[in-house]
Amino acid sequence: MRDTFLPFSPPLIGEEEINEVVDTLRSDWITTGPKTRRFESEFATYLGAPAALALNSCTAALHTALVTLGVGPGDEVVTTPMTFAATVNVIEHVGARPILVDVEPDTLNIDPLKVEMALSPRTKVILPVHYAGHPVDLDPILELARPRGIAVVEDAAHALPARYKGRRIGASENPVAFSFYATKNLTTAEGGMLTGAPEFIERARVLSLHGMNRDAWKRYDKGGSWYYEVIAPGFKYNMTDIQASLGLWQLRKLEAFVKRRREVVKMYNESFKNVEALELPVEKPYVEHAWHLYVLRLRQEALRIDRDRFIEELKKRNIGVSVHFIPVHLHPYYRNKYGYKPEDFPVAYNNYQRMLSLPLSPRLTDQDVADVVEATLDVVRAFLR
Ligand SMILES: *Cc1c(COP(=O)(O)O)cnc(C)c1O
Repeated sequence: MRDTFLPFSPPLIGEEEINEVVDTLRSDWITTGPKTRRFESEFATYLGAPAALALNSCTAALHTALVTLGVGPGDEVVTTPMTFAATVNVIEHVGARPILVDVEPDTLNIDPLKVEMALSPRTKVILPVHYAGHPVDLDPILELARPRGIAVVEDAAHALPARYKGRRIGASENPVAFSFYATKNLTTAEGGMLTGAPEFIERARVLSLHGMNRDAWKRYDKGGSWYYEVIAPGFKYNMTDIQASLGLWQLRKLEAFVKRRREVVKMYNESFKNVEALELPVEKPYVEHAWHLYVLRLRQEALRIDRDRFIEELKKRNIGVSVHFIPVHLHPYYRNKYGYKPEDFPVAYNNYQRMLSLPLSPRLTDQDVADVVEATLDVVRAFLR
């Protein structure tokens, strides 16, 4: 057993990021400026995105997207219960009604067949989440949305970089939101990016910075003007050049990060494939997985302990794990407001009860991975039914 605790998902920040942040701090420009613009442009180029807007979180990107699309009271947004609460909170922020749809048993992504049954004349947006980094089956969703004039906004907080049928997630014209939170595949400590069609991104840019109709950062530049007009009650969601300093280098390292994530996943899969008590994550043939999370599911009939106890046992063996996610409909706010019962979304609920996420990050050494495998197999052996 390892003698130090292995944290679940620490960030991997190098000297390049540190030096770039220091360079920004020593410059005269610490908030949204040239480095943020460069980060947007390099990010868009990397993904092949039509345009990109850097923001201070993925939550801000999702909120800005819904406001830019004009979603409001009386509208419905169809999304998944198997996500972080932010995905659904933003629907509440704009006064629309979230319509939850259960997930597929294998990928735990929103089930396109059930999406169709949830549509109504009030449906304004379908908001799929690429759970764990495995792209959602987008084609059937787009086929439902397009003829009805419904927008598709993707929560790609986990899906950097990922591909669906060869297409990069974020390369499409519809709005796609990415997260650069501390635990995500690319981090700026806090941060996010919204990609989409250029005219959409320009309207979102205005809304994301007070509703001011010209680039505020240019106002204090030589040649900039003091004059501006507020054309909408916008938000304060801009990314700073300090954050973009991290992002520029994290983006350059992303391919190497993902390569290491894949190696770790391969080691886990090889070690667990013949263990009856463990159900492994899937990767459908038509996707390239971003492997943000490695989610194991316990086959409860093979074990004498439940998921909570399994996590406790791993902790005793110095392995940090987590659960993604407590389904949205179980949280008191949503349960009380909409009267949800746990069994209303049985696939999400049943899988939640038996899931745990193992450490997965480019920080992991081969020895770390071996420690996680050993601890997991040890717990399975000790509590086999
Ligand atoms: C992390 C996460 C978010 C929120 O990202 P922030 O950048 O922290 O706002 C949204 N959706 C999902 C699925 C996430 O995992």
